Amino acid sequence: MIGAVVDEVLKEMENATNEGMKAADDCMDAETGLLVCGNCHTKKQKKISFLGKERVVGCLCRCAAEKLEKERARHEAEENLMRIRQMKSAGLQDRTFYGYTFERCDVSQENAVYAKRYVEHFSEMAQTGQGLLFWGNVGTGKTFLAGCIANALLEKKIPVLMTSFPKILNAIGGLYSSERNEYLASLNRYSLLVIDDMGIERDTQYTLETVYTVIDERYKSGKPFIITTNIQLDALGKPQDLEHARIYDRIMERCMPVFFGGKNYRSELGQGNRDTAKKILTGANDTV
Ligand SMILES: [Zn+2]
Repeated sequence: MIGAVVDEVLKEMENATNEGMKAADDCMDAETGLLVCGNCHTKKQKKISFLGKERVVGCLCRCAAEKLEKERARHEAEENLMRIRQMKSAGLQDRTFYGYTFERCDVSQENAVYAKRYVEHFSEMAQTGQGLLFWGNVGTGKTFLAGCIANALLEKKIPVLMTSFPKILNAIGGLYSSERNEYLASLNRYSLLVIDDMGIERDTQYTLETVYTVIDERYKSGKPFIITTNIQLDALGKPQDLEHARIYDRIMERCMPVFFGGKNYRSELGQGNRDTAKKILTGANDTV
């Protein structure tokens, strides 16, 4: 008795569904009695066994399945773009950094090649905490290339923070010490920390202490960082006092110096602490 009722209900549902999905140019397949899409000529119905009976149920024809897949892919791409946009607005602390991309870069210059390779091999660099030190005079493109790296990694949804010491000092200026520690710890949630233009901050005891804390925490986290600076490599190698020495030592240990030589784009890769990193950046490992 109940079986008959269920049967009737199912039949009704079946008819309703099948009627609902019928488009004007669909037709019945004479052999199977199943609905065929008038557009892609594949089945819109199939037979299944349900509660011991054969039933006809709707299914996606090829063109409907393709349409659905296209819609899914479009949605995914949209979400992806939104995520990247969010990451960029959190990670790029200066609007001008948005425009620093490899597409706008003269990739024939050697340093651009190193920067590109750094991005391509970022997982290896991250594993060993290998960073870069872009040094050289003002206007030689250090910030631009560091920005290119930041943007390229963000496009891959790798969290990057590109900031500067004045910005960090400004951010922690009004914080209580517990908040201050929280803020400093938050810097190390990023897979890459780029600190632009080190050395322009005022050289006070407080500033030096903060700069040291940021660098030291980063160093201890084992995650890579990139520094750009106008300070000459000699000065970084022979600091004037102990306060500077403990900062520079950590930078020199983790960051491979890359020289920016000015308008002629003369570049030079300094002796890094790890030969493997140098090989990766110059492509010496690519022979096989
Ligand atoms: Zn179809």
